[in-house]
Amino acid sequence: MKRIAILGSTGSIGTQTLEVARANGDLEVVGLAAGHNVNLLEKQIREFHPKLAAVYDREAAKELRIRIADTDTKVADGMEGLLELSRMEESGLLVTAIVGMIGIRPTMEAIRAGKDIALANKETLVTAGHLIMPLAKECHVKILPVDSEHSAVFQALHAEEHKAVSKLLITASGGPFRGKTKAELAAVTVKDALKHPNWVMGQKITIDSASLVNKGLEVIEAHHLFDMDYDRIQVVVQPQSVIHSMVEFIDGAVIAQLGTPDMRLPIQYALYYPQRRVLSGDRLDFASLARITFEEPDVKTFKGLPLALDAAKAGGSMPTVFNAANELAVREFLQGNIGFLSIYDWIEKAMAHHQVIANPDLDEVLAAEQETYQYLTA
Ligand code: NDP
Repeated sequence: MKRIAILGSTGSIGTQTLEVARANGDLEVVGLAAGHNVNLLEKQIREFHPKLAAVYDREAAKELRIRIADTDTKVADGMEGLLELSRMEESGLLVTAIVGMIGIRPTMEAIRAGKDIALANKETLVTAGHLIMPLAKECHVKILPVDSEHSAVFQALHAEEHKAVSKLLITASGGPFRGKTKAELAAVTVKDALKHPNWVMGQKITIDSASLVNKGLEVIEAHHLFDMDYDRIQVVVQPQSVIHSMVEFIDGAVIAQLGTPDMRLPIQYALYYPQRRVLSGDRLDFASLARITFEEPDVKTFKGLPLALDAAKAGGSMPTVFNAANELAVREFLQGNIGFLSIYDWIEKAMAHHQVIANPDLDEVLAAEQETYQYLTA
């Protein structure tokens, strides 16, 4: 029986991971962690009976302790609680389904403790990939991608040699605002931005998809996961989200992974890799699908992608600044405090101000994050 812990069990990826565990019946969920949603966490604890539950918010953790006093689940809190969950002896694999670069320390803790990682939490790899990938190698730990694009590349690359790869083609739906002008973007609301055409996801990634920041984060994530130079990663808009990504090989062959937009597939693939399991749900029907179309991304209007590439090329601490500025700006946008286009302005402003630190260590990454927040809120 495989034993797993889930960081961010109450979110979109976390709940779908539990669906996969429920459907298969041979995964033991030994740890669950969330930010503050104790209502859902309590239900999950009563169903899966984990040894440990970690809640970042200390008041929420106190409440959970009272609510589940009749169970055998221990409740830990704060960052120390997340770290305890990440290294817990009973688990063999950590699903990182937390949102934001707060996932860095727990992910590194799990790797040091020898746990394989099913990685959804892209912000962690974007900001600390240069620390995480070598650490995983040193600790003989697998980093298994959950993000659908990276899972697609991972599946297409299966058993191929790195030197046989010519480039990665990361597909993008284009988000809810594909085809809009800058003037139209100035007037969009939070509700408009949360209407993704193909995927149902957490709020932050949905806004990132609308701004194309998500695609930028994914290019940086792909660079770290697959050890690929940036000039060999291309973004292609594929509005129907049928092709989840592709790999072009040196002989011109292109291998793509296709499927319905269902995150349970990449989650299950990561959990059981290299085994494939039956998964319920819709299948692609090529007769009714009729056509799959492609476009160039509109990088003049949707500056999230070119700004990410600028940050990637500057390297060092700049991807952290790009990511932190975006995390803060998205929070402010969701609260209705700034307009959609201000997300780009905040990222640009923070990046213009920052002096790059080459090859930052963990403390320097976390300091660059804090400095970005302070600079933008001063
Ligand atoms: P959600 O917002 O739906 O869920 C986030 C989860 O993280 C929740 O369980 C939340 O707990 C928890 N969390 C937030 N802050 C903390 C904290 N400080 N301490 C502990 N837990 C915390 O996000 P998604 O599931 O959509 O995304 C998760 C990650 O996966 C992101 O990095 C995203 O980019 C990536 N991803 C998501 C995809 C998707 O389809 N959703 C696809 C590909 C990648 P609480 O509920 O208590 O707030």
